[in-house]
Amino acid sequence: MRLPAVLSQLIAELAKFPAIGHKSAQKLAFASLDNNQQIAKNLSNLFASAIENLSYCLTCFALIENKYCAICEDKTRDRSRLCVVEDTQSIFLIEDSKAFNGLYHVLGGVISPIKGILPENLNINSLLSRLKDLDLEEIIIATNPNIEGDATAYYLSQQLQTSFDDLKVTKLSEGIPNEGYIEYADSLTLNDAFTKRTKIS
Ligand SMILES: [Zn+2]
Repeated sequence: MRLPAVLSQLIAELAKFPAIGHKSAQKLAFASLDNNQQIAKNLSNLFASAIENLSYCLTCFALIENKYCAICEDKTRDRSRLCVVEDTQSIFLIEDSKAFNGLYHVLGGVISPIKGILPENLNINSLLSRLKDLDLEEIIIATNPNIEGDATAYYLSQQLQTSFDDLKVTKLSEGIPNEGYIEYADSLTLNDAFTKRTKIS
C-alpha cells in the first residue's frame, strides 16, 4: 500500500526538523493523525496562531510577541556586554543558566555555504550598526561550538575586530559536550562555559 501523497509531503516536511529522521517524521505524522486527529487539529491551530502572533524584536531579533523584547527594554541589564546567539532558543537556555545579564543579538542561523546561507542572510549588518549606538566593553559569541558555529564565530570576530578596535571579543569555553550544541548542555555546564570564556585572538 502506498502512502497517501499528502502524508508523504507531511513526512518530508517533518523530516526537515533538526535531529528528526524519516522514520521519526513518519511516526509523528501517524501519531498525530491516525485514530485521533485532535493532536493534528491542535497543532495546526497553534502553528497558525504562532505565525500570526509572533514576530522578531526590532532590536535583537529574538522571536517574541511584541515589537521589542523584555531584555532589550530592561534598563537594569548590563549594557556593556552583548551575547551573540544563533537562535532565540539559545537566549532562553542562557537565561536559565543565570550566567549572563547583558544584551543579546540573534543571528538567525549560521554561515553554511552548502545550505546557501551566507553572511548577508544573517543579522550581521544589523549587529554592526547596532554596535555603533552601544558603549560595549565585551561581545561574547555564543554560537554552537561545532564546525558551522565555529566558522561563523571566526568570521564575526574578524568583522568586529576590523570595525571596533577596543572591543573585547570572546567565545564560550570548550566545555560544551554532546555534539557541540548549546541546547544539550545543562545549566551548570553552560554557566561554566560562560565563566571560563576565552578571548578570540
Ligand atoms: Zn530584543
